[in-house]
Order: sequence, then C-alpha cells, then structure tokens
Amino acid sequence: MAEYHVITGKCIKALLCLDVCQADAIHPTASEPEMAEVAQLYIDPDRCVNCGSCVAVCESEAIYEVNELPEEMKKFAEINTAFYKKK
Ligand code: SF4
Repeated sequence: MAEYHVITGKCIKALLCLDVCQADAIHPTASEPEMAEVAQLYIDPDRCVNCGSCVAVCESEAIYEVNELPEEMKKFAEINTAFYKKK
C-alpha cells in the first residue's frame, strides 16, 4: 500500500509545514496564486516521502499518514490527490 501523508480539513493554513517539507510536496505555497482560493493545503502523494516532518509542526494536528486517517477523514486522501490531478 502506498505510504504518504494527507492534510485534512482541520488545516488552518498556518503554513508551517511548507518550511519543513524537503520534498516540495505541499501546495499551494505562499507565492502561488491558488493560496488565496483554497480552504486548506494539500500534499502531493507522488512527491511525499512520508517523513512526518509536517506532522510535527502542524498547529492544528491536521496531517495524518494515509493509512492512519480517522474514518471520518478518509475522504481527504482523495481530496489531496484531486488538487494535483487538475494541474
Ligand atoms: S511527510 Fe514529509 S515529505 Fe510528506 S508532505 Fe510531510 S514533510 Fe513533506
């Protein structure tokens, strides 16, 4: 099973995760135009190396390993992936 992290609807766009992700897997970044439009940030499952650094800095505990998503948040795996598919 693929292993990567997922940002859920608990995201408050504090943007702390952007500074620690070494894989450029979290978007939009502060300089990308989508930032003003999105309700949350998203992790690209193809870039994420599953390091967990973003989990450690997230103030709102919004980030989960995909296989550890609570039942009611499982839909966010597809929501994160969908953000990158439309690019
Ligand atoms: S788990 Fe690591 S690689 Fe994946 S989004 Fe978080 S900081 Fe980036």
